[in-house]
Amino acid sequence: MFRKDSKKEVYPIAEPVIGKKEIAYVMDAVKSGWVSSAGPYVKEFEEKFSTFCNATYGVSVSNGTVALHLALMALGVGSGDEVIVPASTFVATWNTVIHCGATPVFVDVESGYWGMDPAKIEEKITPKTKVIMPVHLYGHPCDMDAIVSLAKKHNLFVVEDAAEAHGAMYQGKRVGSLSDVACFSFFGNKIMTTGEGGMCLTSDAKLAEKMNLLKNHGMDPNKKYWHPVVGYNYRLTNLQAALGVAQLEQVETFVEKKRQIVAWYKEELRDLVTEGRVIFQEEKSWATSACWMAALLLKDATYDSLKDALRERGVQTRPFFYPATAFPYYHAVGDFPVAEDISKRGIILPSSINLTKTSVKKICQIFKEVLLHGK
Ligand SMILES: *Cc1c(COP(=O)(O)O)cnc(C)c1O
Repeated sequence: MFRKDSKKEVYPIAEPVIGKKEIAYVMDAVKSGWVSSAGPYVKEFEEKFSTFCNATYGVSVSNGTVALHLALMALGVGSGDEVIVPASTFVATWNTVIHCGATPVFVDVESGYWGMDPAKIEEKITPKTKVIMPVHLYGHPCDMDAIVSLAKKHNLFVVEDAAEAHGAMYQGKRVGSLSDVACFSFFGNKIMTTGEGGMCLTSDAKLAEKMNLLKNHGMDPNKKYWHPVVGYNYRLTNLQAALGVAQLEQVETFVEKKRQIVAWYKEELRDLVTEGRVIFQEEKSWATSACWMAALLLKDATYDSLKDALRERGVQTRPFFYPATAFPYYHAVGDFPVAEDISKRGIILPSSINLTKTSVKKICQIFKEVLLHGK
């Protein structure tokens, strides 16, 4: 964490951990000549990642955004349809609905853990609704039983956006197996990475087949260059999959470390917590969060008022996501008080897997000085 180009320590928000194993597997893939999407690591990665999440089929793709797009397309989402999404998430969740020609319909998040609020979903369901798409924000699972039972009642599909939640558990079950299709991202700052990359998981053979067809130019797997549908090139490469297999072998350690980092932050900031000056993302009794990011709310300060002073002292931070209402082209109608509130007061502290307890202590010391004394 000591950068050569500066004298002071810099604490990045989320650095990947790349070790000997990653380098060995990627070298092996490069040397084999299987550099594109054919090659043994792709199948291995799909099988091992789906097994890890207790899903039957894994369909690897080139990033988490197209994973969501592919899932929605495979479920037949198109023009005139509505997809229910949370008002606070990374923009890709909303965009993929628009990429299908459908309309995103926004639901506020619950205070405390900031997942889609099941109590506010039903009022947004119309005859056009086709899918509910909860997002396991910052690694904390949504209340899936409540969401899935609403979906059953109204004959809707559920797509989990699990891009931030590899290894998180809901009622003791890994996210990724709790809906019709679960979508993951392996971007460089996620819990595990393939550089760019993603995966759709499902236990429905028909859906898996459809996604495999669409992601590979719509080409009939049994008849080369025969294309029954208009498809896409959304494939993951063997090189990326090699990196993924190496990362997957350590994912449980990564999640444990992420949880440890948040526990250290809570310990170091316990005075501020007791005084109510900061509020950490709540962990529900039914959840084991993957703790992708150390996310907290400030009681009497805004993110904007702290970020520059923290950056000057080497602490990289992130704001929470802006609510859908911040962007006029999404036409978010209604009130989203929680999404709007957390966006102003939320701050994400450095959450790299390789952080030490000493670094967390140092970061907390700087954070307290900036919060309480402005510098
Ligand atoms: C990262 C992320 C995505 C998109 O994944 P990419 O691999 O970057 O395309 C989608 N949804 C959420 C919630 C994310 O955090």
